[in-house]
Amino acid sequence: MSALVSLVRGLSPVAGEGVFAAEPIARGTAVVSVTEGRRVHRSEYQRIDWPNYRGRIMQVDDDWFLEGIGAIEDFINHGCDPNLGFDAAGTALVALRSIAVGEELLFHYSSCENHENWRVPCGCGAVQCRGAVVGFRDLPPDERRRLLPICLPYLRRLATAADISSSSPMA
Ligand SMILES: [Zn+2]
Repeated sequence: MSALVSLVRGLSPVAGEGVFAAEPIARGTAVVSVTEGRRVHRSEYQRIDWPNYRGRIMQVDDDWFLEGIGAIEDFINHGCDPNLGFDAAGTALVALRSIAVGEELLFHYSSCENHENWRVPCGCGAVQCRGAVVGFRDLPPDERRRLLPICLPYLRRLATAADISSSSPMA
């Protein structure tokens, strides 16, 4: 990931350190590019020694992960009511609404992560906060539908395939 607008790091009311807008951002602006970084296959991902891992890594496809380049945008927190979402191509996080200077940037981690039985507590404070972040596959159907327009293309493909094969929640 790399920043396309001016951002600043700071203490977050959501969790630890976060990333904040240092300039006004108009709705629809590409804020962070998600094309840079080392792509890591699942086989390597599964061998990561988490207690000693100092990097940041996000899921970008069924078996592929993207390692952060050590820049500010690696620290963007999750939010259940995010102001950033992925574009149709999955190459950038764009502003879902206008963002004021000093506002924290948040994207929904379930819009990229699809781990099974993955659960991270959330205290983002949004009205929609579910108290935890889970993999896209483990979201309730209404939440999946809400995130569909802003999630990575590989998740849109999975969700569409599941909807075609059955009206029941994606397995
Ligand atoms: Zn939350």
